[in-house]
Amino acid sequence: MAKLFDTHAHYTDECLRGNTQLLDSLFASDISHILTVATNLTDSDDCIALAEQYVGIYASAGIHPHEAGKVENLDDAMASLAQKLAHEKTVALGEIGLDYYYDFCDKETQMRVFRAQMELAAEKNIPVIIHDREAHGDTMDIIREYKNRVIGILHSCSASAEQVKEYVKMGWYISFSGVITFKNASKTLESVLATPKDRILVETDCPYLAPVPMRGKTNHSGYMHYTAAKAAELLQMEYDAFCEQEVQNAKKLFNIN
Ligand SMILES: [Zn+2]
Repeated sequence: MAKLFDTHAHYTDECLRGNTQLLDSLFASDISHILTVATNLTDSDDCIALAEQYVGIYASAGIHPHEAGKVENLDDAMASLAQKLAHEKTVALGEIGLDYYYDFCDKETQMRVFRAQMELAAEKNIPVIIHDREAHGDTMDIIREYKNRVIGILHSCSASAEQVKEYVKMGWYISFSGVITFKNASKTLESVLATPKDRILVETDCPYLAPVPMRGKTNHSGYMHYTAAKAAELLQMEYDAFCEQEVQNAKKLFNIN
């Protein structure tokens, strides 16, 4: 059975936390690797602890834009984050970025925390995971500032095909979630077509964004084959060849042997 790398999951979320039965069943079927993605410093520790328990699970560490307003001392937060990045199972810094859809934190604070983490990623030479919701322009501007210094993943891509092409030119990877299986996804489908085969990734963003026909349910990596099948179809690839390529892309970016 062709295996996949879920490049963006939240197995420390209360909906999925502690479900060892689910994780065991995923690795026994079509999942080879999972990146469990952090949203704040405490969650980063939880992600690392989970990654220590499973060979196939890797962790990220970082501060989500929703959490940016809770950072009291930015220097202290970056020092703490640097320690978490040094762990052998931490393969990315994230998720970081900008979210102008929800009003959890003002734009200036979001940008300051985002830039500080991009600076740390450049210093530590580690890929980043970008959350960009309704903030395509400002996100791209900050990423351009770090051209040739930081690469990473545009997660659950909702950017236009034009923007995807610019990310790809800068060496970035593009990750698609279950959104590409939704009925109203025509714009995102063009972004899939604009992504080269050696830069495409898939993800669940579980427990959110379950693909059709599971839409509305609690998502997990066991549903990711619906998303992968859709991406393979769009790129006119055989399903197994797509899976093999996807795992290879993720391992290359995260520096996993
Ligand atoms: Zn996420």
